[in-house]
Amino acid sequence: MSIQNFQSKEIIFLNGKFLKASQARLSVLEPGFLYGWGLFETMRAYNGKIVYFEQHLQRIKNSCRLLGMVFPHSLVSIKKIIKKTVAKNGFRDVYTRLTLWKCEKGTDILVTVRKYKPYSIGKYRKGFCTCVSSFRQNDNFYLSRLKTTNYLLYRLALREAEKKGFDEALILNQKGYIAEASRSNLFLIKDKEIFTPSLECGCLNGITRRVVLDLAKKNNMKVYEGNFTIENLLAADGAFLTNSLMGIMPLTSLEKIAIGKNKCLGLIKFFIKKYNSLFR
Ligand code: PMP
Repeated sequence: MSIQNFQSKEIIFLNGKFLKASQARLSVLEPGFLYGWGLFETMRAYNGKIVYFEQHLQRIKNSCRLLGMVFPHSLVSIKKIIKKTVAKNGFRDVYTRLTLWKCEKGTDILVTVRKYKPYSIGKYRKGFCTCVSSFRQNDNFYLSRLKTTNYLLYRLALREAEKKGFDEALILNQKGYIAEASRSNLFLIKDKEIFTPSLECGCLNGITRRVVLDLAKKNNMKVYEGNFTIENLLAADGAFLTNSLMGIMPLTSLEKIAIGKNKCLGLIKFFIKKYNSLFR
């Protein structure tokens, strides 16, 4: 099926109605469009079941308050809308995006669903190669911790990385510490202990990040949230990246310099296995 065909059949939910994506009409005068005044969540569904559904909805609901936006429905009815949109698209393995944005009358809502093509097992074995982005995160800016529709910093960082042939870009904050990557959180491993940039570094409060921190604590590992540099990463025994779509992806090189020299592949595999076992 061509992309065009797929898109013309794609069913979305927009402000109270299920529509074909091609039939959607939006106002150009809304603050959501004019100022990027909005929020989104990207969630993965395995076998039709949305993973960490509650956590994603809580995050966007809390963020609405911080942006002076009204959460448009109850959590229960938003859940029903998303599940229905997923079911109407007829795929079992998908990613679904909930977008809320400020409009004159309150909050507009859009739910979209796309078939998800996971990275291959080979890619998980090989891991991601990364570069250091030329874009910096402002760690003092509280929007940097939220998943807003103001996502240009991350998109530009990713485009810059992909143009150079890398999978991901690491973004430093203004103090020179690593904040996160353009679409994932970062973890380092050293001497079997786990390290990740703290939220104060300006990273998104990732759902998968939280799950990994809880997993590590439950398995009696020492966990540190703090400030970490590129030098710390290069000296680590291993590293990985996390997000809701890919789960846990080993990070194996930075600017073509190998990280960890396979010292803790076993530990990373342990996290991948544990993480996957939580919902599969
Ligand atoms: N940081 C950024 C910039 C992201 O876009 C994402 C993906 N949402 C993450 C971290 C990981 O967040 P989560 O685990 O909630 O998907």
